[in-house]
Amino acid sequence: MIKSHVLGFPRVGEQRELKFELERFWRGEATQEQLLSTGKALRQKHWQAQIDSGLDWVTVGDFSFYDLMADHIQLLGCEPARFDFQEGQGQLERYFRMVRGQSNAGTHARCSLSHGTSHDSSSGFALEMTKWFDTNYHYMVPEFHANTQFLAHSQNLIAQIKEAQALSLPVKVSLIGPLTFLYLGKFKQDWKNADPSPNADTKPHPALDLLGDLLNTYAQILLDIHRQGVEWVQMDEPILSLDLSPQWQAALDQAYSGLKACGPKILLATYFGSTQGQTSQICKLPVDGLHVDCVRAVEDLPLILDWLPNYKVLSLGLVDGRNIWKTDLDKALQRVHSAFGAGKSKAQGQEQRQVWLSSSCSLLHSPYSFTDDQVVNPLVNPWLSGALEKLTEINLLKQAVQADLQGLERPLFVKNALQAQSSILENRANSPLLNNAQVAQSLGSLQSSDSMRALPFQARQALQKKRFDLPPFPTTTIGSFPQTKEIRSLRSAFKKGQLNEPDYWTAIKAEISAVVEFQEEIGIDVLVHGEAERNDMVEYFGEQLEGFTFSANGWVQSYGSRCVKPPILFGDVSRPTPMTVEVARYAQSLTHKPVKGMLTGPVTILQWSFVRDDQPRATTALQIALAIRDEVCDLEAAGIGMIQIDEPAYREGLPLRKAQWGQYLEWASRAFRISASGVRSDTQIHTHMCYSEFNDILPAIADMDADVITIETSRSDMELLRGFGEFKYPNEIGPGVYDIHSPRVPRLREMVRLIRKASEVIPAQNLWVNPDCGLKTRDWPETEAALKLMVQAAKQLRQESSQPRGVGSIVEVLP
Ligand code: GLN
Ligand code: ZN
Repeated sequence: MIKSHVLGFPRVGEQRELKFELERFWRGEATQEQLLSTGKALRQKHWQAQIDSGLDWVTVGDFSFYDLMADHIQLLGCEPARFDFQEGQGQLERYFRMVRGQSNAGTHARCSLSHGTSHDSSSGFALEMTKWFDTNYHYMVPEFHANTQFLAHSQNLIAQIKEAQALSLPVKVSLIGPLTFLYLGKFKQDWKNADPSPNADTKPHPALDLLGDLLNTYAQILLDIHRQGVEWVQMDEPILSLDLSPQWQAALDQAYSGLKACGPKILLATYFGSTQGQTSQICKLPVDGLHVDCVRAVEDLPLILDWLPNYKVLSLGLVDGRNIWKTDLDKALQRVHSAFGAGKSKAQGQEQRQVWLSSSCSLLHSPYSFTDDQVVNPLVNPWLSGALEKLTEINLLKQAVQADLQGLERPLFVKNALQAQSSILENRANSPLLNNAQVAQSLGSLQSSDSMRALPFQARQALQKKRFDLPPFPTTTIGSFPQTKEIRSLRSAFKKGQLNEPDYWTAIKAEISAVVEFQEEIGIDVLVHGEAERNDMVEYFGEQLEGFTFSANGWVQSYGSRCVKPPILFGDVSRPTPMTVEVARYAQSLTHKPVKGMLTGPVTILQWSFVRDDQPRATTALQIALAIRDEVCDLEAAGIGMIQIDEPAYREGLPLRKAQWGQYLEWASRAFRISASGVRSDTQIHTHMCYSEFNDILPAIADMDADVITIETSRSDMELLRGFGEFKYPNEIGPGVYDIHSPRVPRLREMVRLIRKASEVIPAQNLWVNPDCGLKTRDWPETEAALKLMVQAAKQLRQESSQPRGVGSIVEVLP
């Protein structure tokens, strides 16, 4: 009657074994057999962990060498034709070609923070990569054309099922559902024969034309799975927590009626948010069970208890797959009992509802384990729960409920464990580590004027133009310069204690001075110090702020072999001492040109950390904002006239549902403004955001009121900028004039063209010239060449704009 499972398990391994083996394989240091056997060993270990923790099923189908959406592209036989794969090419070779591109196409040196690599019809470019809902995981985007065909290739999946069965493990298979797969794909014009029909790209959802064929393929795969004796298949449909159009809602009925008779029972898995708008519909679908995210969508539960027929399994996602805090098991138990209670009262004399207990979503987004971790603040460690600990939590819930339902006393080990867990929770709730009276006081005494600059932008702009006296089209960079091997080993030697602090800072200062000298030499107008002292733009600040701690091994997959180790924000945030003032002051002392102070903004720090769940995110963001504000004011006091507050994660913080955007944007923009508004009117605040669809949030971006915003635009050929122009974005903008994600040196004429294109939509006096993003992933030779040309391009534009129109044509003969 009661069973337990998880929606998926992290696949990179306890010690990131998969990452390291993949990278060895790509360097040619491991064979395909070695890679395959690492994969197999990891799967077995992870299944074993699920069984050892007492779960009733192991999940098969959640493993991937790079990304599950990419696996589904092969499973469903829809590798894009542009890759032009040949008959005998191995499956794994084709797989890595799709996800990584061909090395000479220069696409796999991707910035972890950017998405949506655009490409043409070339066979060398990887699939696009973009964020998986509101997580920091990235998936590979399927490409569809009007003539895309699907064909079941179940062999790999079946082999994994057999692997688990050979170990006598009870198998539940997980698949990404057909609607989510289709919805997240990109429908492209056919790369060879563009669709001649006049309304080809205005048709509302061309992808839905493919649904019938796709469903046949899913049906075939389900049959194959059933033939292996598998009883349950979990179909992940996280798009059910989005605002779906009626067309997609209708497709939902079509899809699941079509799959109902294929053999296995289907557990429809929703997660990441409320299914509002389609809840009653999904309760009625002809499936055998429904999974509900009881962490993020607990408000759906009463409705579902009401509407879901009793004969269907209800899977309750009680243990948070997205965060790291130990679960409040008592609260979770109440939820389970309410589910049973509802079942009974509804269906007198009927069979009682089957309830399964689970994680809210896949544990992919959780670190492997915290049990043996050397968390910097050991007092925080007991509060944490990684994937392994979450398995134990799910089992405890099951053991307790099972006893309760039979009217038996809970087993002693369960009672003890529940008791131990609740005292840990109590210890956390009452810990003095959480609260800082000073922070509470500063928050309480915030005035509305604290989130506004003293003067409106136009008045500030006049003062700043006077103060800095920059040429038109001023040039700058986004902050980081190449992080060479030498710089990285310097930092790691310091961290390991092999290098003492004075020697470390001497070396960093030498680097800063070289970077400043370089920028002066090539004629950049607004300089940066280069960020050599920073490993990561969030960790660097987290390490210096109160309220944060760090695990040694809390890695989470970001994409492919890339993992991130998010800081753990557990308590009130404050800034005990200045964090960047020394480096900024030093850099500024070397030059008469302005050097930008360089900070990470409150929303990005929040977004890229594991944050506390005992207060609203908005409150945490405000606390970080106050800490950054202190830093901004100290930078100003140290003579720094321009301060950049990076917010690359601003857009990705948007809630999944549009109805909640307004509220988010209000507090996010307020947090930014609080961090930025403590300065004089002639101090210039910059911000930077990476590739984002800005158009639907332009008012909110304008509301941030940064004096200058730099954004990534080169890959969209300045298309992104059009929105800013149409909106009449009032402040200054630096649209990126070249792509920093590839080592390719842009040509002068390309940059000139982009700046000209930008000045068609943005008044020239508001335009800056800069690369798309930071340069830390680049090498020096290409950086030097590209920046020199960028400066030349700006000079060219200055000349053009000071001369009568028509002279610009000399550009055509430039290199
Ligand atoms: N200042 C940061 C850098 O240049 C910004 C990085 C980012 O936007 N992701 O590296
Ligand atoms: Zn960026």
